[in-house]
Amino acid sequence: MTDRYCVFGNPIGHSKSPAIHAMFARQTGEDLVYEARLAPLDGFAASVRDFVAEGGRGANVTVPFKEEAFRLCNALSERARLAGAVNTLSFADGRIAGDNTDGAGLVRDLAENLATPLAGRRILLLGAGGAARGALGPLLERRPAALVVANRTAARADELARHFAALGPVRGGGFAELAGEAFDLVVNATSASLAGEAPPLPDGVFAPGALAYDMMYGKGDTAFLALARRLGAARLADGLGMLVEQAAEAFHVWRGVRPETAPVLAALRAA
Ligand code: NDP
Repeated sequence: MTDRYCVFGNPIGHSKSPAIHAMFARQTGEDLVYEARLAPLDGFAASVRDFVAEGGRGANVTVPFKEEAFRLCNALSERARLAGAVNTLSFADGRIAGDNTDGAGLVRDLAENLATPLAGRRILLLGAGGAARGALGPLLERRPAALVVANRTAARADELARHFAALGPVRGGGFAELAGEAFDLVVNATSASLAGEAPPLPDGVFAPGALAYDMMYGKGDTAFLALARRLGAARLADGLGMLVEQAAEAFHVWRGVRPETAPVLAALRAA
C-alpha cells in the first residue's frame, strides 16, 4: 500500500514540499504520496489526529506550527529538543515522534552545495525566532571560531546564546553592537525579507570573501541579499538549497534512504 505523508502549514498553498518529495520518491523508487494540508490556526493538533486516523505515516510542519508540533510529540530527537521546535513528525504505534531537520538542511547546503567551510570561521546569525533556534546547534557542531546571534529584540538573542552556550563560542546582542565586527558568513534567519526589509547592518560586516545567506528564497535578490551586495559580500545565496536539504533529511528520517538533492534543486531553479 502506498504510504502517505503531508506538510501542515497556514498558509500552505505556496509550498514546494509536495513537488520536492514527489521527485525524491521517483528517484528512490519509494512508494509514497505527499500532499499539502492547510491546518486551521486553532486546529493543528486535530488536523494531525485526522491525518493519523487516515493512515498517514509522517508529516512536515511549517509556519506557524513548529512549536505546537514540538509540544504534541511523545518522543523527540536531541536536535528537536535543543531547537524547541519540530518540523518532521513520524507516526507509529499510536505515538508521535518529532525531529527538526532545518538546521541540518542549512548546514548541508552551506557545507556541501556551497562549499563553505564553517570550522574556524566567524559566523553571524541574524534573528532569534524558530529558524535561528533550529540552526544554532548544527552550526555550533561545525566548530566555528565565533557565532554571534543578533536580533531586533536583543534580549531574545541573548537568551538564545545562553541556551546554546554549552555547545560552543556563541554570544547574542542587538544589531547596533555589530559595528566594527567582520564575519565570513552572515545568515539571515529573520523574516524581514518577507516584508521587503533587511536588518540594519553596518559597513564592514562582510569580511573579504564572505558569503551572505538568506533563508528566504524567491525570484531575484531578497532585500537582505540586495543589502549584502551593496555592502560588498563576495558571494550570495538564498534558502532554496536549505529547503531541499531539510526535505531530504526528513525523507531519510522516514524512509532510511537519502535522495540526491542536486537534480531536485536544479529542477526547482529551472521552474
Ligand atoms: P519567526 O517568526 O519565528 O522569527 C522571526 C524573526 O525575524 C525574529 O527574530 C524577528 O525579530 C525577526 N524580524 C521580523 N521582522 C523583522 C524586521 N523587519 N527587521 C528585523 N528583524 C525582523 O520566523 P522563523 O524563524 O520561523 O522564520 C524566519 C525566516 O526563515 C522566514 O523568512 C522563513 O521563511 C525562513 N525559513 C526558511 C527555511 C528554508 O528551508 N529555507 C526554513 C525555515 C525558515 P524579533 O524577535 O525582534 O521579533
